[in-house]
Amino acid sequence: MRNTDHDTFAEPVNTGGGSTFNKLRFAHTSDSPSADADVLSQTTIAKSITLDGIGLHKGTLVRLVLTPAAADTGIVFRRTDLDTTDRTITDIPARYDAVTDATMCTTIGNAAGTKVATIEHLMAAISALQIDNLLIEVSAEEVPVMDGSSDAFIALLDQAGQKTLASPRRFIRVLEPISVEDGLRQGTLHPCDEGLRIELSIDFDNQVIGKQDLALTISPENFRRELSRSRTFGFLKDVEMLRSLGLAKGATLENAVVLDGEEVLNAGGLRSPDEFVRHKTLDAVGDLALAGAPILGCYEASRAGHAFNNQVLHALFANPDSWEYVTCDEPVDVMDDVPRMMVSAD
Ligand SMILES: [Zn+2]
Repeated sequence: MRNTDHDTFAEPVNTGGGSTFNKLRFAHTSDSPSADADVLSQTTIAKSITLDGIGLHKGTLVRLVLTPAAADTGIVFRRTDLDTTDRTITDIPARYDAVTDATMCTTIGNAAGTKVATIEHLMAAISALQIDNLLIEVSAEEVPVMDGSSDAFIALLDQAGQKTLASPRRFIRVLEPISVEDGLRQGTLHPCDEGLRIELSIDFDNQVIGKQDLALTISPENFRRELSRSRTFGFLKDVEMLRSLGLAKGATLENAVVLDGEEVLNAGGLRSPDEFVRHKTLDAVGDLALAGAPILGCYEASRAGHAFNNQVLHALFANPDSWEYVTCDEPVDVMDDVPRMMVSAD
């Protein structure tokens, strides 16, 4: 996907609406005793925290610093290695319309041409833990790959802790099905008020991967248990080809599952037999986080990848009748497990 209009990163406009109270249920309630209150307020992290790791493509050391951000900031990446403090040059909002390339990993960029690559596993962790606002300082053109999963980012965010902000969280509620087809890839966003549900299937002409499918409602608990440790995967012949192009310099068996034909080369094997579809689901969580707000909907897709997931978001936001923003405009009655939601004025 290529973004041809870098001039603005305006939020998707939706002037529709008109419905009154909507009842929404969330699949989060087992995570903390006060989850009902938490899920309806914006969050950030409680303190700044640093992580060093290797970038997948350049193979060099990258420093990542996560810093708390005010309500309505969203998730913003900032390049700290550029010789300027001009925020129009250093900063890139983590949004679907800032995606400049999604062929190998997800890369976002701004009008000045500044880019950050491999954001998806970090974005998945941020989104799954329901963190709305964050400044992400990165000292290179890519986020460290760590072990190829979201595990290190979950640990980092846990270490930073969370802070609830005095502003309501805004959700993107899918109102009618939006479908995209691209060759053999197919995907639909359906209405679903339980939060974000993802139902993926993959089909590889390879006996180790083969056909795999997974359906999961994305709560912090489900993400931690079912998805966060699943690693990215690739084929040895592709790694060799990428290396010849000067890419994937940091790719090792420490940060990806590597297949040579029907053989898994990693000494420890797979973390689960269906690690592949689990990772594709993790990727989808990260890609859909670029909507800019949590999605209330079900994403059903086959053979989806980063570029395809981004196409689905473009299709959603191109059709204002297919979605609306919702926020909670009333204090939540903790005795009521069905919080009342109201369509916001914006
Ligand atoms: Zn991935």
